[in-house]
Amino acid sequence: MSAKIISGTEVAKEIREELKAEVKELVEKHNVQPGLVTILVGENPASVSYVTAKGRTAKELGFNSIQDDQPGDLSEEDLLKLIDKYNKDPKIHGILVQLPLPKHIDENKVLYAIDPDKDVDGFHPVNVGRLVIGEAKFYPCTPYGIQELLIRAGAIEDGAEVVVVGRSNIVGKPIAMMLVQKAKGANATVTVCHTRTRDMKAHTLRADILIVAAGVPKAVTADMVKEGAVVIDVGVNRVGKTPEGKAILEGDVDFEAVKEKASAITPVPGGVGPMTITMLMKNTVRAAKMAAGLPLD
Ligand code: NAP
Repeated sequence: MSAKIISGTEVAKEIREELKAEVKELVEKHNVQPGLVTILVGENPASVSYVTAKGRTAKELGFNSIQDDQPGDLSEEDLLKLIDKYNKDPKIHGILVQLPLPKHIDENKVLYAIDPDKDVDGFHPVNVGRLVIGEAKFYPCTPYGIQELLIRAGAIEDGAEVVVVGRSNIVGKPIAMMLVQKAKGANATVTVCHTRTRDMKAHTLRADILIVAAGVPKAVTADMVKEGAVVIDVGVNRVGKTPEGKAILEGDVDFEAVKEKASAITPVPGGVGPMTITMLMKNTVRAAKMAAGLPLD
């Protein structure tokens, strides 16, 4: 039997509609308009397109959306001053510095300068620490999107065996930490695999939920998946170009073969990808509510 396709595109659309209504209410009832600034240093084409997409989504949802483009030779000191300005700006609730930054700038120094209450990417050590102890203010956007997909697909139950392939700070480690929490939509038994894992297949075959964030096409093949498992493919690999010059994207999972074994699976594109920007917006609404002292859900 072929797996149910978990459409991130559809779930993201659903969440954006909810956010749009929430923003309207925040503005009308509380005079609070969520404000998001995206800071782009230089002109890296991929970064330009990510920042443009974030700005467009923020505007669509009714945010005060500011795109602050800076030249590639901006000094670290001037970038820190800019962050300080937005840290103090009451109209700005979320600050996003698009990565990667030019080599002359220390990325961590910049990210750590963002006020943790405006860190809508969830990368500041204070927010990472809070996540670990179950007191998160913000979840990093991609893991947050993965958890939301699992919840809305009704795919996660207490005690689920979750196996995560990959241990990066932006996907593997935070999603493992989130799903192990004593909380609704979590309470999983989590195993994390990486390149030094001895027998990865022995682990993946136990997974009720298999989350793959390796950055390697076909890192997971059908023989590694348990019958009926839920498979979340985080990978985005550019494997070629169409005759029109558009990138051909592939995930980390052998989709065609695995979908015959899994009970549900996310596609690439159209799976986790569309969720990431959406959860950034959700974090910004949350930051605005926190700043206004309004109750959170
Ligand atoms: P990363 O920093 O390169 O980390 C990859 C992780 O996978 C590492 O921990 C690595 O292990 C592990 N790994 C690599 N090959 C493996 C293999 N064959 N078996 C087991 N483990 C393996 O990557 P990332 O930033 O987490 O991103 C992962 C993928 O997700 C990429 O394709 C990226 O483009 C995609 N991504 C998508 C979104 C989205 O919004 N859809 C967001 C973020 C990332 P070691 O630690 O031992 O090296």
